[in-house]
Amino acid sequence: MNGIGVVGAGIGGLHLSLLLQQHSVPVTLYAETAAREQLLKRLPNTAVHWRTTRERERTLGVNHWDGLPSAQPGTPLESGCMHVHVTLPAGTRQFSGNFAAPAITVDQRLITATLLEDFQDRGGEVVIRAIKADDLETLTERHEFVVLSTGRGSLTELFPRLAEHSPYIRPQRLLCTALYNGITYTDPIGIGFNVVAGVGELFELPIITADGPKTALFFEVVPGGPAELLMQARYQEDPAAFEANVIHVLGRYMPHVLERTQLGSFGVTHPLDVLQGAITPTIRRPYARLDNDRWVMAIADLHGVNDPLLGQGANAASHAAFTMGRAILSDGIAFDERFCLRTAELMWRHLDDVTSWNNHTLRTPLPDNVAQLLEAAHAKQQIADAFADGFAEPEAAWNRLASPERTQSWLRDQGCDPLEASIATPGPSQPR
Ligand SMILES: Cc1cc2nc3c(=O)[nH]c(=O)nc-3n(C[C@H](O)[C@H](O)[C@H](O)COP(=O)(O)OP(=O)(O)OC[C@H]3O[C@@H](n4cnc5c(N)ncnc54)[C@H](O)[C@@H]3O)c2cc1C
Repeated sequence: MNGIGVVGAGIGGLHLSLLLQQHSVPVTLYAETAAREQLLKRLPNTAVHWRTTRERERTLGVNHWDGLPSAQPGTPLESGCMHVHVTLPAGTRQFSGNFAAPAITVDQRLITATLLEDFQDRGGEVVIRAIKADDLETLTERHEFVVLSTGRGSLTELFPRLAEHSPYIRPQRLLCTALYNGITYTDPIGIGFNVVAGVGELFELPIITADGPKTALFFEVVPGGPAELLMQARYQEDPAAFEANVIHVLGRYMPHVLERTQLGSFGVTHPLDVLQGAITPTIRRPYARLDNDRWVMAIADLHGVNDPLLGQGANAASHAAFTMGRAILSDGIAFDERFCLRTAELMWRHLDDVTSWNNHTLRTPLPDNVAQLLEAAHAKQQIADAFADGFAEPEAAWNRLASPERTQSWLRDQGCDPLEASIATPGPSQPR
């Protein structure tokens, strides 16, 4: 027997491997590609790491990007706040909410390459190999336990979809994210979160890349809506048409972003820095018994994948890695059905809140209590701050939205009259 086998070197697999390594548990990490090759891949996502994930990164000693300077002298490329811009049929609202501690976005290729090197430099064993389902019995005989963190598209056949937690059978948004030159950051530097009813959402993210600070524009396009043209021109086929579509959508629906865009220098940073696709939110049973009677478990996206509308996937992957890691450290007597059931329950506690919040917010039209919360955030700074910081604490965010009564009760506790907190009043308001 040879410690724990972890398959997949994304955030989930890396955080789990590094945590176990920190506690002197022997780990073999099976990665599809070597560290430096990760940098040559297509942009896999543009994931924000909220303060809670950053705290876990500090625990692991992999917070390499803390305090890096931005293009604006003396200012680190961290986001201390979220600038929210909401356009619903009845009106437009703008507010900025402060995070309890800054969030950061780093090119995921750079993060995974660096963390894989960290793991190796600290003595961890890495096997470069794409694991197939047929390999798993051998792996489970080589290791005390095998955890799979292969993401949303690999080895899924082992873990059945749970219909009761997977209300959608098709993607609710079309995803178009890319890195750009030529966009000036907001002042203060923050994450832009733009919601336009019937069109979609846009995350504007200051991002650290291997080539320095850039901007990620991550569009979540409502299928059949007017921004779908962002999906029609594929960047690989016609870069100029793709960029013209981005400018068109910004000008038509998010002019405040276009105002900070220098058309002369605007453009995608590299042909591989574009990702266009879609995700069907899916929850799976995270454990399976193999034919040799050994159990394996899935964590992170392989357990549950959500639309990235609320920027939770990588953060939930890190959370799941810590839950799994602590379960291995605190039990360790046997990796049997009991271990799987108990650990699945622990992981679900967090993922359930993430999934419920995400799926609620994906609904069209925007649910009334979400609109109420946004209106209240526009009116009151402490609510704006709680809204922004909720991205780091999905349990708190969903606690406020899980029913209309909860939202109203919470708003009353914040000194806000829920009846007045309605965006149903026509006409644009003044930004604060
Ligand atoms: C456009 C977009 C934007 C996003 N924005 C955000 C955001 O703002 N915030 C956020 O938190 N999340 C975001 N996400 C979600 C986030 O990217 C994922 O939830 C997160 O990366 C999941 O981590 P993971 O470790 O489960 O899987 P992955 O990151 O997919 O990693 C899986 C790893 O397993 C490897 N692998 C796969 N199959 C095998 C195999 N058979 N053998 C060996 N290795 C294998 C892969 O090479 C990869 O390295 C976004 C996603 C997308 C698509």
